[in-house]
Amino acid sequence: MHQSQMLINGESVASLSGKVEIIRNPANQEPVAEISVGDREDARMALEAAKAAFPEWSGTTSALRADLLHEAARLVRKRSEDIARLLTQEMGKPLKGSRLEILASADTLDYYAEEGKRNFGQWITSSHSRSIVIRQPVGVCALITPWNFPVDLLSWKVGPALAAGCTLVAKPPSIAPLAATEFIKAVNEAGLPPGTVNVVHGPGSEVGAELVENPISRKIAFTGETGTGRWIMERAAKYIKRVSLELGGQSPFIVCRDADLEKAAAACAQRAFNNMGQICISVNRIYVDETVAEEFTSRLLDRTRRLKIGDGLKPDVDLGPMASADSRQKTKEHVADALSRGAELLYGGREPEGREFEKGFFYLPTVLSNADHSMRVMREETFGPVAPVMCFETLDEALALANDNEYGLAAYIFTESLKTAIYAAERLEAGGIGININSVVDMQAPFGGWKQSGNGRELGHFGLDSYLELKHIRLGL
Ligand code: NAD
Repeated sequence: MHQSQMLINGESVASLSGKVEIIRNPANQEPVAEISVGDREDARMALEAAKAAFPEWSGTTSALRADLLHEAARLVRKRSEDIARLLTQEMGKPLKGSRLEILASADTLDYYAEEGKRNFGQWITSSHSRSIVIRQPVGVCALITPWNFPVDLLSWKVGPALAAGCTLVAKPPSIAPLAATEFIKAVNEAGLPPGTVNVVHGPGSEVGAELVENPISRKIAFTGETGTGRWIMERAAKYIKRVSLELGGQSPFIVCRDADLEKAAAACAQRAFNNMGQICISVNRIYVDETVAEEFTSRLLDRTRRLKIGDGLKPDVDLGPMASADSRQKTKEHVADALSRGAELLYGGREPEGREFEKGFFYLPTVLSNADHSMRVMREETFGPVAPVMCFETLDEALALANDNEYGLAAYIFTESLKTAIYAAERLEAGGIGININSVVDMQAPFGGWKQSGNGRELGHFGLDSYLELKHIRLGL
């Protein structure tokens, strides 16, 4: 069985308490790995190591950091098959998705290797002085990440943090820590000074809390639930720490009467069910112009029926199990609530039948019609494979419904009219708007949420900025 230890000061170490846990495969409950589980004391040691490494790492040139980040990307690619298998086994996603995730994470390291070289300053001329503005690394960073994309979302933080000259302690999610740990170990082996990158396993309430509360960390980069983000923001206030929060979502998908319905249905099914709906920018609620609702829904159903569900390690599987029993239970509760309030079940709404599904956390992709805003699926983050459809009469009504939510991460609209697209994009309250496209992630563009979906931006040069402090150096003449 795979053994996963923590990484502190360049050494692979067991937790001080010696505590271990077994990580199980959500497809069949088979044990995958034994993992060392740390507590506050281990987190403190990792923070001390990152603090001791900071003067050396922050003093390196961006060119040297770029060389090491490129080498880290090379090592991640070389090990990608092994890391991808661990990822599938720990959280269930099909192997093809895991491979893409690991390769994308290597790409992120390459991107920030070069972006770090563009950490430019400014020279400002005044009448009796000159001002130089430089941007310096913020210090030791705590990187806290969720289980749905445990490697990709970590790379969005590790890349810019290291490129900026920060040292870091990563806290992977408790239910899926294996692939993220292997990713950090590959980065470490690129030749970084010991203590530059560290990983501590353990519960968020202990290890995560120590990373947030300890004065050594100067910045917290967090992706996870809005409730956890709120707690982190409150605690970080004590030392006025820099905080970036990528939180929950409840993304609307608007289908206008002039949309390419086949394209819209394909995009909708893919973004509602990929990763079993366990994506912050998943399609959560679908608003369709009533004149095309029947046709769109029938195409959506056709796309949904074609999805093959099974153990993610099997070839040609589109959907694996959900990551945990709790996630599936929440999905079941949301579907039951919708049905009790008048939604109609068009597909799914239950576990698939058959022996291969008996031990895993499987659930069929589910399509509901006749949805409305009294239902939890339309208001809360289900984080499961459910696509509820609601009709609208006018675009303004659809936009009001789309904005009637505390979250504001992503919103999608399908229309062939540029005028409609721009009108809607300017009025939708979200950090990312997809027009005739079902993702708002692009390495070079800012990613993040409005309202209770977050604070700050990742990716592009925006992602680098959040690991840098401005300094004004004034020269008297
Ligand atoms: P979570 O908030 O339960 O956990 C995220 C991480 O925080 C884990 O590593 C956890 O151990 C840690 N944690 C928990 N309590 C903590 C505390 N008190 N102090 C410090 N750390 C603590 O989230 P999850 O269930 O792992 O992930 C799912 C959520 O993540 C969903 O809400 C989803 O929308 C969100 N998400 C957001 C984005 C985005 O970019 N906006 C991306 C992916 C997932």
